[in-house]
Amino acid sequence: MNSESSASSHLRSAICDPPSACGTYALALHLAHAKNLRIGKLGTFHFPRGDYVYVGSAFSAGGLRARIARHARKNKRAHWHIDYLREHARLRGIIFTDASRAMECEWSRRLSACADANIPVAKFGAMDCRNKCAAHLIAFPRGITSNQLCEILDEGVAQIANSG
Ligand SMILES: [Zn+2]
Repeated sequence: MNSESSASSHLRSAICDPPSACGTYALALHLAHAKNLRIGKLGTFHFPRGDYVYVGSAFSAGGLRARIARHARKNKRAHWHIDYLREHARLRGIIFTDASRAMECEWSRRLSACADANIPVAKFGAMDCRNKCAAHLIAFPRGITSNQLCEILDEGVAQIANSG
């Protein structure tokens, strides 16, 4: 809780003013209650209560700013796998880097290598992943703090903020 509050000012500024630069991001999500969710054409899966981290990159027009704004919004037409989960999960924070190469596969590997981490749905967000990631969504049923996330992703420019 202390760790969360120390990071919250950074997270808030990230939410209010994410860069329009392109880059890689990680969404820290919390699912308060276990749910069975349909994830588009992948099918329906059981999601236990807990923390989830989704990694992605935004290298199209609008960059991180547009992409993060989209993830922050609810009640939108589901397009990506993450949209189905986001509808039910609270967005705790976003970590991003404007490094010029896409980092999501490396981040996915680092996160899934953590003790207590698991892949809840094979290929979630990674149907066309060129690095053959197991998924771009990693579950932390026992929880993961903002500080732990920043340490794992190890980005000097990483920021995390709190949102609703
Ligand atoms: Zn990947």
